[in-house]
Amino acid sequence: MTTHPQDPACIFCKIVAGQIPSKKVYEDDELYAFHDINPWAPVHFLIVPKAHIASMAHVGPEHEALLGRIMALAPKLALERGCEPYPDGGFRIVVNTGAQGGQEVHHLHMHVMGGPRPWLKG
Ligand code: ADP
Repeated sequence: MTTHPQDPACIFCKIVAGQIPSKKVYEDDELYAFHDINPWAPVHFLIVPKAHIASMAHVGPEHEALLGRIMALAPKLALERGCEPYPDGGFRIVVNTGAQGGQEVHHLHMHVMGGPRPWLKG
């Protein structure tokens, strides 16, 4: 079993470690996905790296493959979790970064949101 760098004060590290309960959507050696506790959309889950990376502002060349895996996983899980197919369905992916980017939990996470409108404005 691979061990990942963790921040003991981080809520998403605690979720990854099973110390805080979550509704799991997906798990592999590097990634964990779970339902958002306060969904904005009929389908709303988060994909996180198991390793603690604070934000997109902390990403370097060593993370390129990992970020590619997150991006490739999102559409597959979106369909599995009830988003309808492109082009009439689809989903939105969001990665808030830093205070001005609206980031509240400082462990890199991708929001995946979809389902029938009107949850999405604009
Ligand atoms: P924002 O709160 O503005 O969306 P973030 O982009 O940092 O900021 O998103 C953090 C997300 O984590 C929020 O959507 C929030 O509902 C979710 N969240 C916080 N705690 C938990 C938890 N224990 N389980 C699942 N989701 C959580």
